[in-house]
Amino acid sequence: MSTATSFLARSAVKGADLDHRRKISFNIGKYNAAVPKGKVQFADLETARMQAKNLKWDGIENLDTYLLQFEEKLTARGGKVIWAENAEQALQEVLAICQRVNCKTLVKSKSMVTEEVHLNSFLEKNGIASIETDLGEYIQQLDGEAPYHIVTPAMHKSKEDVAKLFARTLGTEPNLTPEQLTQVARHNLRKKYVQAEVGVTGANFLLADTGSICLTENEGNARLSCAFPKVHIVIAGIEKVIPSISNLQLFWPLLATYGTGQMMTVYNSILSGPRQPAKEGRPPETDGPEEMIVILLDNGRTELLQHPTSREALYCIRCGSCLNACPVYKNIGGHSYETTYSGPIGKVITPWLKGMHDYKHLSYASSLCGNCTEVCPVRINLHELLLDNRHEAVAQGESNLAERLAWKGWKAAMLHQPLLKLANSKTKNWVVNKVFNAWTDGHAPLEFAEKGFAELFREEGGEG
Ligand code: SF4
Repeated sequence: MSTATSFLARSAVKGADLDHRRKISFNIGKYNAAVPKGKVQFADLETARMQAKNLKWDGIENLDTYLLQFEEKLTARGGKVIWAENAEQALQEVLAICQRVNCKTLVKSKSMVTEEVHLNSFLEKNGIASIETDLGEYIQQLDGEAPYHIVTPAMHKSKEDVAKLFARTLGTEPNLTPEQLTQVARHNLRKKYVQAEVGVTGANFLLADTGSICLTENEGNARLSCAFPKVHIVIAGIEKVIPSISNLQLFWPLLATYGTGQMMTVYNSILSGPRQPAKEGRPPETDGPEEMIVILLDNGRTELLQHPTSREALYCIRCGSCLNACPVYKNIGGHSYETTYSGPIGKVITPWLKGMHDYKHLSYASSLCGNCTEVCPVRINLHELLLDNRHEAVAQGESNLAERLAWKGWKAAMLHQPLLKLANSKTKNWVVNKVFNAWTDGHAPLEFAEKGFAELFREEGGEG
């Protein structure tokens, strides 16, 4: 089954699943209620968003300079940078490090880029247990499911679903409260932090001027994942770089507000290398990993970078806001996409990261209502980029013969009104409802009026 057929089939099932829709509406409703409370902290929100967009523009336009600066600064503090062109290279680098330190258990904080390279399944095949430490990710790992949403991985599960899952997989009572469930997860995970030889995190931002990585989280699990084990591996997409540490005064509140409706996320960490030795009269540091290795991942991002307009998608700070606002996402849910990044941003970037041929259909799964663009904190023109993708797909020869013929006919009819008038309303009904029957699969048939506008206009005494 092609990816497009599978997407349509899954979407049809989810779209008709009322229980799924109820859970999503409940959780997105809570998000919608929280976001305005975060927004009040901005004296001029629109200017803040434009400033953030400009900073990301600077970061992406000067990516080569900033990434090298990042590497130089981090290396000067004892960190190591590895450049990975694709997922396979990144995975092999992680494996080589794990084998060198004889790693059997690895703790991991939530990171979409590690989902993108399928780190957990790769490590498992190589005999290394990779434990998710974010509560939502932990729930998803117990259930054998990929994250449903880029910020809230288990958004589609109710508290009752989670209690049942814990009972099934961990043997707990089936009716635990959210607080009790959290305590169970905490109890299980604490042991893993001290066992693990390696901790893996992503990075919300890479700071060029200080050579630091930034982590934003609400549970404290990311800091435990990188502070307890002796080796900290960071996997980050190259687009995460921003020019300066001072830019965080804008990005941290924006990410918190648009991600979860908070003014600031609970834990924001800046990590600039491994534990430091004694230096210039200062005693050696006693906490932190002995090694910090940052893997900078391309994996298709430079394909996107080459495109003069679509490169704007690289400004994304992964807040998840466009997913919550998207009428398509709210109906079909995160798993129907069968991609790491779902929702509007996923539809824009996936065809570039994984190929137009298999993923161009995502760019068509949109009403182009523009709500995604409206809510994006860095003002990415998401709905216009979806149109760009459609254009790019055609330019790459990805449209089929039926599609090309249909558009040729449509264009001819639109440009020559007499041609259009040759067909009466019955013929038009037949073409729209029978020839383009994808419409009537899910909707009532369209009915054309017997008389067109021009005819009615003339009948009313107008000229034309
Ligand atoms: S595209 Fe914008 S709204 Fe969507 S996740 Fe990225 S930053 Fe957030």
